[in-house]
Amino acid sequence: MTSRVYLSSCEDYSKEKTERAVREALDAFGGAAALAGGKRVLIKANLLMSCTPDKAVTTHPNIVEALAREFISAGCTVEIADSCGGMYTEEILNKLYATSGMKRVAENTGAVLNYDTSSFELDIKDGVRIKKAQIISPLKRADFVVSAAKMKTHGFAYYTGAVKNMFGTIPGLTKAVMHSRFPDKRAFCEMLVDLCEGVRPDFSIIDGVVGMEGAGPSGGKPKTVGVIVASDNPYAADATAIDIMGLERKKSPVHVEGVRRGLVGDIELCGAPIEDFYTSFEPAYKKESVTILRLLPGAARSYIERFFAAYPKIEKNKCIGCGECARSCPEHTIAIKDKKADINYKKCIRCYCCQEMCPVHAVKIQRFVKYRKK
Ligand code: SF4
Ligand code: SF4
Repeated sequence: MTSRVYLSSCEDYSKEKTERAVREALDAFGGAAALAGGKRVLIKANLLMSCTPDKAVTTHPNIVEALAREFISAGCTVEIADSCGGMYTEEILNKLYATSGMKRVAENTGAVLNYDTSSFELDIKDGVRIKKAQIISPLKRADFVVSAAKMKTHGFAYYTGAVKNMFGTIPGLTKAVMHSRFPDKRAFCEMLVDLCEGVRPDFSIIDGVVGMEGAGPSGGKPKTVGVIVASDNPYAADATAIDIMGLERKKSPVHVEGVRRGLVGDIELCGAPIEDFYTSFEPAYKKESVTILRLLPGAARSYIERFFAAYPKIEKNKCIGCGECARSCPEHTIAIKDKKADINYKKCIRCYCCQEMCPVHAVKIQRFVKYRKK
């Protein structure tokens, strides 16, 4: 199996450059009209949390705007949606769209922002970990889905891009339930592949104009790469992004599972030369796993690795006691005491949702923590 991946050079987020780069990427696959002319297009952006675009947490609004313009010009209706981390309510969506720049996108293009917080059950008949998933209603209305992802490192999944972006189709706190059901990283990532196969994004575009390195997906540093990665195969787009970031494909459990299922094989690169973009992203954790564990068979390795997994640690001097981590924690193992977050490590499954959702980056992930027995 050979998949095509197109690389567009895009030095910054100016309107002219993003419009040119996105148009080039779509044209490489026949153009918006041939791909989706007249259809109901859903742009599933990565809107993890309420952050301004300069933080590099969310898909940049000018990329989403360029996509919306192309599809609307092709006679499509365009809806923009995501279920952010934490709660999924109309009020939270309103704030999310305002802060991330999506409101402006809707005003400028005529795209519709989703405020419908209902969900439906999606059948995933060939799923390995899940055969059904509750997902947000805009997916039911759409007949062409675009995964508009952000190029970032990820504490739990190593890397996040086009495939992991589909996790945001699971509504609100149901995402925490998934973390509880699949505390093991490999099992969780197999579930992500099931979900991506169930949703089947028709087109994927990864915003790597400015990505995120270090403590991704929300607490890392912006890193300029100047590229947009596009493909009709989300796994191929991700593999290419991982290469560009100087990360290792074999450390991405989503990629490994995609290969195992035959969802990605050879990649035909086109557009700008990949050599123009090669860089070196600092991973979320420098030491991913204890080397000797790699010699163990899969199930035993997963089991033992959990004992070696890094822990979240609250930096009390930074914590503002907002409780966002406690609301996001799938194991309900965080309490707010004296206006500071406090983790009961006995129940912690090291999913790092608390780190993802902390608005002030007061949760650090480290190999060993001292903790009191509760
Ligand atoms: S404390 Fe943090 S890492 Fe541990 S289970 Fe809760 S959200 Fe996950
Ligand atoms: S650790 Fe972060 S999310 Fe949790 S209460 Fe403190 S500031 Fe809020």
